[in-house]
Amino acid sequence: MNILIAIVSGIFLAFLTNSVLDYLIASRGLAYRMVRPFKIMGVGENSISEISASELNSEKIYIKNEFPTCHTCHIKIKLLPYFFGCKCPACGASPRKRLWILLLWMPLLFIYVTLFPIFGFRIADIFLLLTFYTMVFVMDVEHRVILLPLTLSGVLFGLYFGIHYHGVLYTLYGGLAGGVIMLLFYWLGVLYIRQVRKTSNPAMNEVALGFGDVTLSLILGLILGWPGVLGGLFFGILLGGVISGGMLIVKIALKKYAPNDLILPYAPFLIIGAFLIMIL
Ligand SMILES: [Zn+2]
Repeated sequence: MNILIAIVSGIFLAFLTNSVLDYLIASRGLAYRMVRPFKIMGVGENSISEISASELNSEKIYIKNEFPTCHTCHIKIKLLPYFFGCKCPACGASPRKRLWILLLWMPLLFIYVTLFPIFGFRIADIFLLLTFYTMVFVMDVEHRVILLPLTLSGVLFGLYFGIHYHGVLYTLYGGLAGGVIMLLFYWLGVLYIRQVRKTSNPAMNEVALGFGDVTLSLILGLILGWPGVLGGLFFGILLGGVISGGMLIVKIALKKYAPNDLILPYAPFLIIGAFLIMIL
């Protein structure tokens, strides 16, 4: 019975994740407006360049209020057929492959956490947590950016989840620690990029860590609480370091190294780290 609930929830949340991602990416104008106050504060300097540099621009989605639309011919589709991934009535295009991957991935993940429950956590909260992680993971891999509406929902979810399981104080400590630790790494990255621009490569415009990674760490801090956040970030940073370091060594060995190449989306590593600390 529990397995059946896991499968049904997994399928439903996979459809939902797919639609929410498309919606957030299509309505990226909202993200620009929400980034602006951060830019005035000087902290989100790279968020704007991140969004404009990402593939968002090459996708040619010029949608303001017409969501949902076909990803190929951009014609408007009714909400329900779009949600369930029906073919486009105008051009016959199938939905993005991402939907099929999600429809496989999320039920399997939910079955796993049902069979091997994480001690002390309600299964519904874990399903929601994994849905949020999946959304961030996919968005960062596809577009190298975590748009602010997703970040803000994450903060709300993190507060709910954290306060329920760790109490108010340890949740806030966790969030603060996560944000501050990653902000230090972010500033180091910004200094490094400025140095590279000045000395060797003026065209360098990518950042290793985006501001989205800072806000994600804050959210993971709320979710994991204090001191769990330390272990989660440690795993995440270690994993990212090992994999990007490995790729760097391979590229240098093949003599294909260029500074802009090195940039990996970092959020997936942080998420895997945060999930590992919970199940270990
Ligand atoms: Zn179409």
